[in-house]
Amino acid sequence: MKRPLIGVTSATCAFDCHAPQPQDRLNQSYSRALWQAGAVPVILPNLPEDAETVMQTLARLDGLLLSGGWDISPTRYGESPLNEIVKVDEERDRAEFPLIRAALERETPLLAICRGIQALNVALGGTLYQDIPSQVETRLQHQQTEPRHVPTHTIAVESGSRLAQIVGAARLETNSMHHQAVREVGEGLRVTARAEDGVIEALENPLKPFLVAVQFHPEEIALAPEETASVQACRALFRAFVEACV
Ligand code: MN
Repeated sequence: MKRPLIGVTSATCAFDCHAPQPQDRLNQSYSRALWQAGAVPVILPNLPEDAETVMQTLARLDGLLLSGGWDISPTRYGESPLNEIVKVDEERDRAEFPLIRAALERETPLLAICRGIQALNVALGGTLYQDIPSQVETRLQHQQTEPRHVPTHTIAVESGSRLAQIVGAARLETNSMHHQAVREVGEGLRVTARAEDGVIEALENPLKPFLVAVQFHPEEIALAPEETASVQACRALFRAFVEACV
């Protein structure tokens, strides 16, 4: 099988005071999980994108993965930052939003993870909880302190959804490393998983070739050495995405 070429958006070093120079950066787990699932991953830098460059980039890619990172500027959904916990990566917003809009227009297969689900939702007119601990009544710890690949809460997956089809289960143990979450759902998206406290953990657009978004981090779980149901489900998610890009 020819490996599809999948672009992965990157973060800046906006909140890393140790970076000696401006950087585009990505946790290795994203590229490793894509490679493991049969793709050739390419890291997309944060460029001051113009429409033409974005279209030329996407024309060469078979798929797009929106990776995790710092927060989206609340001005993009008509709010101002709630508190000092909200850490906005505006340089990244400027690079990523045109790419998301163009990918939606072209119907490029898209997998969105963590900040990715939030960016996708905002790009489609949705809103976010800026800070779960201050805005959502919950006993769940969505910002886990356990190692990143360790599942710490359960999500209920909507039956009949593409996500349910892929993971083959109605419940999934997931990791959780987010302090924001989807609030009002963007146009064309449907909620396909929630945590026990109601926090939205997955979205998709069933009418698109492949448009799946998750709040958890399948790239971390997919690389775990053991063969738990959760590991298998996260590997299946990456395989389904890569197959949709072929
Ligand atoms: Mn969570």
